[in-house]
Amino acid sequence: MSANHSHTDPHTGPLTDASSVAVIGAGIAGLACTNVLTQAGQRVALFDKARGAGGRMSSKRRPDATVDLGAQAFTVRDDDFAAEVERWRGAGCIAEWPNAVYQASPSGWQPYHDGQTRYTGAPRMSAITRHLAETLTAQGAILYSATRITALTKTADGWELSCQNGDVFGPYTQVVITAPPPQAESLVQPWDNTLSSLCKHLPQQSCWAGWAVFETPLPTLPGVAPDWQMARAQHPALRLISRNATKPGRETEPESVSLIAQLDWSAAHLEEQSDAVAQQLFDALKSLFPALLAFPRVSDIGAHRWRYSQPAEDVDMPTEGFAIGRDGLALCGDSLRGGRVEDAWLSGYTLAQALLEERGSTVSPR
Ligand SMILES: Cc1cc2nc3c(=O)[nH]c(=O)nc-3n(C[C@H](O)[C@H](O)[C@H](O)COP(=O)(O)OP(=O)(O)OC[C@H]3O[C@@H](n4cnc5c(N)ncnc54)[C@H](O)[C@@H]3O)c2cc1C
Repeated sequence: MSANHSHTDPHTGPLTDASSVAVIGAGIAGLACTNVLTQAGQRVALFDKARGAGGRMSSKRRPDATVDLGAQAFTVRDDDFAAEVERWRGAGCIAEWPNAVYQASPSGWQPYHDGQTRYTGAPRMSAITRHLAETLTAQGAILYSATRITALTKTADGWELSCQNGDVFGPYTQVVITAPPPQAESLVQPWDNTLSSLCKHLPQQSCWAGWAVFETPLPTLPGVAPDWQMARAQHPALRLISRNATKPGRETEPESVSLIAQLDWSAAHLEEQSDAVAQQLFDALKSLFPALLAFPRVSDIGAHRWRYSQPAEDVDMPTEGFAIGRDGLALCGDSLRGGRVEDAWLSGYTLAQALLEERGSTVSPR
């Protein structure tokens, strides 16, 4: 521990049988990684710059409603992820949603089916990451929220992590970074050229996510089920409309929509004020309804900018879906595997297994 600003961390001190691991980022990848490591008896400290776990699966509580600002729903393909999703179902933090999806354009709405089952967090997307964070802390992992890691330092005893207020955590034998590559790059750059170069080759796209809360429900559209849940928008600004009060556990909330912007539109409007962006996304929503239909009054409107929302198209991701560097540094997260909730979870999960294998440890049965 560094002298003046050292932080009391029960995970540090003399290392005994189990290694001490720092995981930077408590999104789904960091939580999945931590889960495997703690179950195998590793001591893990998890850091996130935000006030809680969740990352791009976070939800925003507004005075009257809760809106999901990142992922709205996710699919399941991999068997290990399917088993995990069953555990989430057992814990009551997910449900199937949506099953009434439309394709919406100013010229009309058509039902949309792609045959995929999707799930969402219940009663909000962040219920999943909250459940995981609570499980991990009960298993002995420590979550340091509101703690932005600004630098790593290699010492004779391991890695020390400096955070924004001058506190220093560590030493740790292993550091796993799950922050999107442009943010991870500044941490690894002084220490590992290969990881640093990988981060530079994994650019991210930005995305605005708006919301609006209404005083009364949206008007019923001719030929569209009144309880439609999600619409894929064919509009230059708007990509997806998600009706939050149709999500499981939010039935008593007033009508609210999450409005996910098109990626190229987001890039072109990246530095605009959030109020102006929210208004433009709201106008885009209105343009998908017939002009004659009276639109309900809005009680709350806003927009959140995800500077790093998903990997750019056509990037070469590592085949393993994670990267292990030198001297105990490693990277994981959706950006190294594919850009979806499932990819992020698998990236953290498989990295943790690879790290345990390197050390000759085994994953405990769940
Ligand atoms: C608008 C939007 C819509 C989406 N829709 C879908 C969808 O419908 N289906 C789907 O499957 N996926 C969707 N996704 C993608 C999905 O949300 C992500 O793939 C997944 O949540 C990424 O998880 P992660 O753990 O890799 O990264 P993140 O969730 O970004 O976690 C990284 C964490 O690191 C923290 N962090 C960063 N830097 C530091 C630092 N220096 N110190 C400490 N902490 C730090 C961040 O605060 C964050 O919590 C969507 C994403 C967005 C933005």
